[in-house]
Amino acid sequence: MGQIIARYGEISLKGQNRSEFEKVLVQNMRRAVSPWPGVHVARGQGRIVIETGDHPVDPVLTALSRVFGIVSLSPVRSAGLSEEAIGAEAVALVQEALASGEMPRRTFKVEVRRANKRFPIPSPELARRLGGVILKSVPGLHVDVHHPDLTVNVEVRDVEAFVYGRTVPGLGGLPVGVSGKVGLLLSGGIDSPVAGWLAMKRGAQVEAIHFHSYPFTSERALQKVESLAQVLADWGGRVVLHVVHFTEVQTEIRKHCPEPLTITIMRRMMMRIATDIARQRGLLAIVTGESLGQVASQTLESMYTIGSVTRLPILRPLVAEDKVDIIRRARQIGTYDISILPYEDCCTVFVPKNPRTRPKPDEAEAAETHLDVEALTASAVKRTEMKVFHARRGVERSLSGTP
Ligand code: ATP
Ligand code: MG
Repeated sequence: MGQIIARYGEISLKGQNRSEFEKVLVQNMRRAVSPWPGVHVARGQGRIVIETGDHPVDPVLTALSRVFGIVSLSPVRSAGLSEEAIGAEAVALVQEALASGEMPRRTFKVEVRRANKRFPIPSPELARRLGGVILKSVPGLHVDVHHPDLTVNVEVRDVEAFVYGRTVPGLGGLPVGVSGKVGLLLSGGIDSPVAGWLAMKRGAQVEAIHFHSYPFTSERALQKVESLAQVLADWGGRVVLHVVHFTEVQTEIRKHCPEPLTITIMRRMMMRIATDIARQRGLLAIVTGESLGQVASQTLESMYTIGSVTRLPILRPLVAEDKVDIIRRARQIGTYDISILPYEDCCTVFVPKNPRTRPKPDEAEAAETHLDVEALTASAVKRTEMKVFHARRGVERSLSGTP
């Protein structure tokens, strides 16, 4: 019967926040292991313990390493609280590591942590004795305290001891859900999916909002955004996608507003529509993939003029990131290959010849005088369609690397 322990972080969390963190983390972990019926997840003594039953440990381990909020995981062997019982598991662990080729130089060390101070043998003494037991039971081994092939870790706890060798890193961050819900402005580009992933990493549940300009943008452009929402759902558990039909708004902007300001006004309309959707859906902030100075429209002046139409906080997780780093992250989370598919975006369809790169709010307001902002916003919100994406089972295998 396999067992895994999961360690979680954010040591700054206290009291109510901590128990909420743990509750949501356990829920998210249960969802991650739902493909394996009978796998059991429970809280205990500052750790979460997963019983894998008859299922192989590794796939469960991989699935859990994708759950936000976990710092690291170890497959463990559980032993009763006696020196003999712990020794037997330690020897078994060493034999397993030898058999799987993890000990080419046949060196090891033992490290003991004693959370249960009633256990009669002090940690250094227990480590020494266990080292002796291992050396006696398995011939040809050596202790190397500096660079051992295998560290035999022993954690002595209240009702049992855990013995383990391997520790797999988790993603860190906070469990999705503890920070509330946010609206992600999701384009088909490289940046916004990464921004959404980072918002999830800090515990936000993401509802994506996409502006679609059919027939100026194709059905395939929309499918691309749906694929991105699906990948985000694979990480975050569940992602709602709101598809806003934006053609009428764009056409009206083109008809009634000075050309150099069309991009600014289009963004202001996106913000207004997103703000209304946020109100209906209880979203507490708007997340975008903007990064300062990345393109001409991402100036501070432009951010101010666009942001001044909403009172919601606008979160820009990528504000200080360079493009190469964003691309690396996009590859790791599995959105890059989808993002670079060549379908047009609603913003690239109407590109003015000389866009204003540092627009002021009063210029934008003046440019909007002949636009029926309220009616256009309301009608776009009314026609918005909603789709829900759930994590796909077993998909962790197709996601590359650990970000
Ligand atoms: P991305 O790679 O995320 O598209 P970008 O570098 O192409 O970003 P812009 O096209 O200027 O930058 O878009 C800035 C941000 O505005 C995007 O990151 C996204 O959050 C939002 N955005 C742009 N187009 C759309 C759209 N069609 N639907 C929803 N949000 C959008
Ligand atoms: Mg873009």
